[in-house]
Amino acid sequence: MVSAGDSQRLFLQGVLSRGILSEKLARILYTKCVDTVNSAEEGLNLSYKDSREEWETVVKDVNNALNALDLQFVRQVEQTKGIPMWGIVNMKGDEVAQVATDYSPVEIAYFKALVEQIIMAPRNAFSISSFLALREINELKPKANMTKSQGEETLASFVNRGWLAKSKRGRYALSTRTLIELKGYIKSEYPEQIPPCMFCDDFVTIGATCKCGRAIHRHCFTQWRNRRSQCKECNAEWAQNYDDDMFTPIGEDAVAENDNARRYTRQEEDDEDEDGETPSQSQSGSQKPAKKAKGKGRAKKSRASRGDDDMLVDDDEEVEAEIEDDEEDEADYEEKDDAEPPVKSEPRRRSTRGG
Ligand SMILES: [Zn+2]
Ligand SMILES: [Zn+2]
Repeated sequence: MVSAGDSQRLFLQGVLSRGILSEKLARILYTKCVDTVNSAEEGLNLSYKDSREEWETVVKDVNNALNALDLQFVRQVEQTKGIPMWGIVNMKGDEVAQVATDYSPVEIAYFKALVEQIIMAPRNAFSISSFLALREINELKPKANMTKSQGEETLASFVNRGWLAKSKRGRYALSTRTLIELKGYIKSEYPEQIPPCMFCDDFVTIGATCKCGRAIHRHCFTQWRNRRSQCKECNAEWAQNYDDDMFTPIGEDAVAENDNARRYTRQEEDDEDEDGETPSQSQSGSQKPAKKAKGKGRAKKSRASRGDDDMLVDDDEEVEAEIEDDEEDEADYEEKDDAEPPVKSEPRRRSTRGG
């Protein structure tokens, strides 16, 4: 027999099978689940009219149902485009192994090592070159029996399944999925390393810092700047443009020439890696500072041109295709989220890791 709870169940199955999805798609998906359940049982007339209020009720109900399982359906704004995304966080077992269940222990160890390298990258770059990513195989303890090509395959699979983001420049960064599903793990392992946004308090791994040292996302900057021209924290007069020199980039644009050469860990930030047995001597030049060649100057240019789809953050296009009849054009995805702060919690004051 079909019941009202079935729309929730259907919806959760849809969410789980996708990992994460945009708020827009989540709302479409929920509408469809209600339609499906209604049409399966005559006389059953669940109503859902998609609106912010009704969606909030759905989220509350879903979370009430998930509570007993220590799961939570949470929102996270994707940092390059400012798109609100939703996913399910495991509140209890934050261990990577419990989330990425289809990976072997070695692959999980490798993933954790990559997360560490990304988070510890100097200058708040929060990204690593493919050279460094592959070199991490040699650092695994116990020694991993992984060849370079297996390493490359594993890396590709992390990207394909949404656990890592790979930029056009070939650098690996934390994906939105990882920032959602492994939030607990990241917070417990790296409590101080990722600066919180002064506006929404969420992690900033792509964004910028004000001269006061506080970080802010691009989409949060836009919302704040529309209302006030001073920094929320230090009252400095802000430029109109987020790409202005007064802001120090966080993320790929913060990378400097020699950053690829070094390896940073939590234990010892100076832990130089000199063992020479890199996974590939013939690695296709990613260890070279290709940035200069691209005329990167001081990150200005690429920041301005980065805009849209630099990071392959998620498979939303794919999901979108699945829900064909509600498909709307790309431009719709750009919509910022209704002039409302991405996350409602009050920002905490906290010092950030310096540059
Ligand atoms: Zn923010
Ligand atoms: Zn400031």
